[in-house]
Amino acid sequence: MANNERTFIAIKPDGVQRGLVGEIIKRFEQRGFRLVAMKMVQASEDLVKQHYIDLKDMPFYGGLCSFIGSLLMPLNTILQIWEGLNIVKNGRLMLGETNPADSKPGSIRGDLCITLGRNIIHGSDSLDSAKKEIGLWFKPEEMVEYKSCQHGFLYE
Ligand code: UDP
Ligand code: MG
Repeated sequence: MANNERTFIAIKPDGVQRGLVGEIIKRFEQRGFRLVAMKMVQASEDLVKQHYIDLKDMPFYGGLCSFIGSLLMPLNTILQIWEGLNIVKNGRLMLGETNPADSKPGSIRGDLCITLGRNIIHGSDSLDSAKKEIGLWFKPEEMVEYKSCQHGFLYE
């Protein structure tokens, strides 16, 4: 089993504004996942539209892209790549359901937010979308190679 699987996590502007960056990073760190890359951006609407291209026909697409794409006001998003065993699936479980109202307590959305349009965090939903999203938001040189000293204590 590959423990070098990677996923793309974004703390959306609502999560950043609400001061939840540390809390969210803490959960991935404490689980034992390895932070591969992180940066703060004022996301361009073009990139956000590309990121959510599969949802382009949905009624909420415009509002979603203009909120994250800083059109309403200058807003920041924190972009991260996390690595570990089954991180794509486990990351989604840690996030909870898309609608915070359906998210279990203990999950990020179940503990930290209330409504669908302000659900504070994005996480890739498949290996394929993780690969695409990482390629869309990060350059190869932004992923610094290092080995976590915890590795042998997390994996047999
Ligand atoms: N969204 C929304 N209204 C909806 C469905 C989704 O505002 O009815 C937003 C919400 O922020 C969600 C994002 O669009 O996180 C992307 O939707 P998706 O179905 O991909 O959910 P996710 O993968 O984020 O759980
Ligand atoms: Mg999605």
